[in-house]
Amino acid sequence: MVNERMYGLGNEPSAIRELFAYGLQRKAEIGEDKVFDYSIGNPSIPAPQKVADTIAELMKLPPVELHAYSPAAGIPAVRQAIADSIARRTGIDAKAAHVYMTVGAAASITISLGAITNPGDEVIVPTPYFPEYKVWIETMGCSIVEVPAQVPSFQLDVEAMGAAIGEKTAAVIINSPNNPVGAVYTRENLEALAAMLETKSAEVGHPIYLISDEPYREITYGADVPCVPAIYPRTLVCYSYSKALSLPGERVGYVYVSDTMDADEADRVFFAVAGAGRAHGFVCAPVLFQRVAAACVDEPSDVEAYAANRRILTEALDEIGYEYVQPDGAFYLWVRALEPDAQAFSDRAKAHELLIVPSDSFGCPGWVRMSYCIARETIENSLPALKALKAEYDA
Ligand code: PLP
Repeated sequence: MVNERMYGLGNEPSAIRELFAYGLQRKAEIGEDKVFDYSIGNPSIPAPQKVADTIAELMKLPPVELHAYSPAAGIPAVRQAIADSIARRTGIDAKAAHVYMTVGAAASITISLGAITNPGDEVIVPTPYFPEYKVWIETMGCSIVEVPAQVPSFQLDVEAMGAAIGEKTAAVIINSPNNPVGAVYTRENLEALAAMLETKSAEVGHPIYLISDEPYREITYGADVPCVPAIYPRTLVCYSYSKALSLPGERVGYVYVSDTMDADEADRVFFAVAGAGRAHGFVCAPVLFQRVAAACVDEPSDVEAYAANRRILTEALDEIGYEYVQPDGAFYLWVRALEPDAQAFSDRAKAHELLIVPSDSFGCPGWVRMSYCIARETIENSLPALKALKAEYDA
């Protein structure tokens, strides 16, 4: 007998992956340049040269050493390099002992949830959100509690989040810069969240942890991205090198249990992180890319290409007459669907070879997400299709 829930998850791909797979098939049928695939967040800029240089250097190591298992939590020197970088960047006295290397942000979040929730707990998530959160939360035997963000700023609605917190609340997940809307939470917004969580933790009589999902931390267009653990001590930072270093297929990231929390509590949470890593089989993240991450820990992200794509796309949408949220970070555009049913709108867009993800799986009706981390020519070539789609609705 297979597990019915797992069967369901495997048998019904996510809306994003389904559209991405459709795009691959369609490109094979009619040609790469005829399909305008805005479905998935696969970075289009190459990894920094230092990645290739580091790999070339690492290849000189004896293979037995290069490919050997690392300790479950990661190579000690790598964890130290990451802790040092956190300290340099934030001023927090970050300890290597609280860094756990993972297989990307996906593993960072499942491990964090495993560490700080128990079956029956609730996890608060602002909508719209990265769809896999729901899958991961429910896999822990917990329930997701969705709280809409403020519209149109898409900052956190702290009052509504506070109202949703109860005795079963174990954690809150936030993601800034945000996928799918591109919002970057302001310091004031995060400080209000922290104050609310302090009050609510005291009220419910147990700590409410904050999972700060930060794979887009370096991808901004001038906005300041405040350091979350400096604002709320009971934070687990979930990071990944998928986006900033353009290494999504290499599967490397980390969980950092903040040293701004009480030292004994941080140790206890870290052991639970290590335990969750063990329980899920997420031990010894890919060793080659652990070393690459350590060498490139302070490599700047080249956001120029995304900034140009953002400008070309938003200027065109302004001209054609689409409504969208101006993104301050990440590489997604949140566009109002031209009819209330976002799935129907996405289906009509498909007829123009435009692949845009309906918002329903992000926990929010009536919008679509366009990933603009794609080739500039694809964006330029897609503009007539975007115009034709709008004209179809205006007719
Ligand atoms: N969290 C968010 C908000 C994301 O957008 C993604 C990937 O797109 C992930 C987590 C998963 O990242 P990774 O590929 O590093 O597992």
